[in-house]
Amino acid sequence: MLKEVKVCGELYKVKLSDSHEHLNSYGSTRWSDGIIYIDKNLSEEKRKLVLLHEVLHCIAEVTDFANLPRDISCDDAEEGIIRRMEHVLFQVLKENKGLGISQ
Ligand SMILES: [Zn+2]
Repeated sequence: MLKEVKVCGELYKVKLSDSHEHLNSYGSTRWSDGIIYIDKNLSEEKRKLVLLHEVLHCIAEVTDFANLPRDISCDDAEEGIIRRMEHVLFQVLKENKGLGISQ
């Protein structure tokens, strides 16, 4: 399991915790401290899946998903989301080799 993940130049520490018991969630990200918490009771593979989920939240934050226009068609929204994701996801997968499930 990676100890840290870099997303758009920002370094997030990855920590195992009892997050599911406290937050009713298998993972969470504390933006202010740059820490991603993963439930330590999960298998190694599920930890990776939850870490990827949290990384996608980081990407959504960096690329400002919350402010996608509301009055566009589904096709345009899909294109807008993918365009926002592509370069960041490319960078994240390139610079964080341990994120891949096969490694
Ligand atoms: Zn989530």
